[in-house]
Amino acid sequence: MNERARRGPRRGEFDVIVVGAGAAGGALTLALARDGFKVALVEVREPTAWRSEDEVDLRVVALAPDARALLDDLGAWPAITQARVSPFQRMCVWDAQAPGELRFDATERGEAALGWIIENKLIQHALWTALVTPSAAGTAPVLHCPAEISALEEDADGISVVLGDGTRLRARVLVSAEGGESSLRQRLGITFDGRDYGARAVVAHVRSECAHEGTAWQRFLPTGPLAFLPLVDGRCSIVWSLPEAEAARVLALDDDAVFCAELGAAFDFRLGPITSVSRRAAFPLRLRLAEQFVRGRCVLVGDAAHLVHPLAGQGMNLGLRDVSCLRRVLGDARDRGSDLGAWHVLRHFERERRSQTTLAARGFDAIERVFGSSSPPLVALRGLALTSAGHLSPLRSLLADVAAGRL
Ligand SMILES: Cc1cc2nc3c(=O)[nH]c(=O)nc-3n(C[C@H](O)[C@H](O)[C@H](O)COP(=O)(O)OP(=O)(O)OC[C@H]3O[C@@H](n4cnc5c(N)ncnc54)[C@H](O)[C@@H]3O)c2cc1C
Repeated sequence: MNERARRGPRRGEFDVIVVGAGAAGGALTLALARDGFKVALVEVREPTAWRSEDEVDLRVVALAPDARALLDDLGAWPAITQARVSPFQRMCVWDAQAPGELRFDATERGEAALGWIIENKLIQHALWTALVTPSAAGTAPVLHCPAEISALEEDADGISVVLGDGTRLRARVLVSAEGGESSLRQRLGITFDGRDYGARAVVAHVRSECAHEGTAWQRFLPTGPLAFLPLVDGRCSIVWSLPEAEAARVLALDDDAVFCAELGAAFDFRLGPITSVSRRAAFPLRLRLAEQFVRGRCVLVGDAAHLVHPLAGQGMNLGLRDVSCLRRVLGDARDRGSDLGAWHVLRHFERERRSQTTLAARGFDAIERVFGSSSPPLVALRGLALTSAGHLSPLRSLLADVAAGRL
């Protein structure tokens, strides 16, 4: 450790620069600042992009208990609950081609909820509000927004970046939390492994004749999974995975009544007929795992490091686990007096998160392959997994782990 590392950063220098104020970047900046690190955050969009009072965000996530606990710890949870949050107590999974169904109930686990359905932008807004609100704890982060990195250079002691307006920043560690199209990942030449599902997730908010019963529903169809996630206003947020051409067709349906009828049939009218639908949107479905989560003093977190199929509703949960892990690794390094950006420090993050994320992403991919197949042995295996109540078959146990956010 050199003398500068021992004394901490000089004025104008940072311990960590975070790029991207999505859930992963916002939470990481807040966590590190609360822990007393000197942090700068660079976000390309105007903060008004995620104002919560605007139209409801069609992109929602199911947050797992550990992710909620992190947001609570960071002081962002009360703002989310004051806006719109829908706890769900039950989950029901079934297959269009095989018998049986799988049910999970929070009470079996002695918990009040299995998870919480929240609009993406509410999470981003709550984190941003906490970032700009003075706090007695830790240090205040320096926010550059809207701003973008135009150049970067790494040397033995740290990493220097130049923003579009000429501002120069320097830090021990640079974190990309820029989402799936991370420009830093591309600039660093980090490739990724994975596949394109050739499908899109069609999302909308719908009202059904029957109540959603605080249950997250998922039906596996040969075309892909269809989820109905309960919203606090009684509607459901749907995530309907469809092959490209089918997704384009249902998105373009002029007549809402036709869309509702097709959706109801795809959902086996489990909640009765669909009576209304909001505007619709769609997201491409891809599996991507960065070959490295750390290169030099640069770290990838959240979707910048991994994109997973939304069938398990775990993308953001994985990103928030990256945040908790990096927070712990950097905190330990500071306690030991180590250089925060040294490889022997960051490799702990790389090892832990890359192996856990790979396991989760491959597990979700296996579920997608097994449930997307019409091959008779796999249909029989699914029937067995969904009907075996006593012994947990490997598939059932995998689904149970996914439902509990343990993967
Ligand atoms: C249909 C669908 C359903 C999903 N359901 C769930 C679910 O139920 N549960 C779950 O956990 N996850 C779910 N996910 C995944 C989840 O939405 C993502 O994993 C999560 O939002 C990613 O957060 P992030 O902060 O990593 O990235 P993002 O949300 O993409 O944020 C990236 C931020 O970086 C900024 N940025 C980008 N480039 C730059 C740059 N060059 N410079 C500065 N700033 C930049 C962006 O403006 C943005 O603010 C779902 C995803 C989809 C598509």
